Amino acid sequence: MNYEIFISEKPRDGKGIKDIKGSPVVTPVQVHEANVAFVGSIPQKPPVADGLVTDTKNLWIGVLTADCLPVFLIGEGVVGVVHAGWRGTLKGITFNAVSYINRFSRIKKAILGVGICGKCYEVGEDVYKLFPQEYKGCFKEINKGKFLLDLKEANRIQLKAAGVPEIEDLNLCSVCNNDRFFSYRKEKTYKRTLSAIRLI
Ligand SMILES: [Zn+2]
Repeated sequence: MNYEIFISEKPRDGKGIKDIKGSPVVTPVQVHEANVAFVGSIPQKPPVADGLVTDTKNLWIGVLTADCLPVFLIGEGVVGVVHAGWRGTLKGITFNAVSYINRFSRIKKAILGVGICGKCYEVGEDVYKLFPQEYKGCFKEINKGKFLLDLKEANRIQLKAAGVPEIEDLNLCSVCNNDRFFSYRKEKTYKRTLSAIRLI
C-alpha cells in the first residue's frame, strides 16, 4: 500500500492548488450525487462526480470541502477519494466508491478525513426524515426539530457494508479545528480544504 495523503491548511485556499510536490492534482466538479469517475490521466475537462478513483502513480486525486467529509480509499494498486456531505451520503457515494474499487481491485483501508463532527453538525428534521432506519443512530435530537448528525458514523456504516476491513479516523473537524481548516458553516467562506491522495 504505497500511497500518500495531502490535506491543505489555512490560510491556503485548496481551490488554488493545481499540483502537489510537483505532481498534478485532479479534482471533480462536485454535485452532491453518488457518481464515481475513473481518472487515468489529467482529463481535458474535470469529471462531474463526487468520487474519484485512479490506478495511475503520482497522479493526485482530490476533493474540496468546508465541512463535508472527505473519505480516502486505499485498494491494491488503486486509490480513491470521496466528497460526502449529507446529500451524497444519503445517495450512497461512499458505498458506491468502494464497490467501484472492488470491481477490479480489493479495498484494504479507508480514512475519514477533515469533516464536521457529530457535535458540530446541526441539521433539521427534514434531513433526519430523509435517512432510512439504518442511519437513525447517527442522529441525536437536541431540540424539537433540531438534530446533530454524525456524518462520519453514517459513512462508517457504508464502508462496513461495502466490506472495508480497516477504517481510520483522523479525528479532525472543520469547526473544532477551525484554526487549521475552512468551515462554511462557521465562516460562510468560499475557501476550501483540499484533501488529496496519490499512489506512489
Ligand atoms: Zn466539531
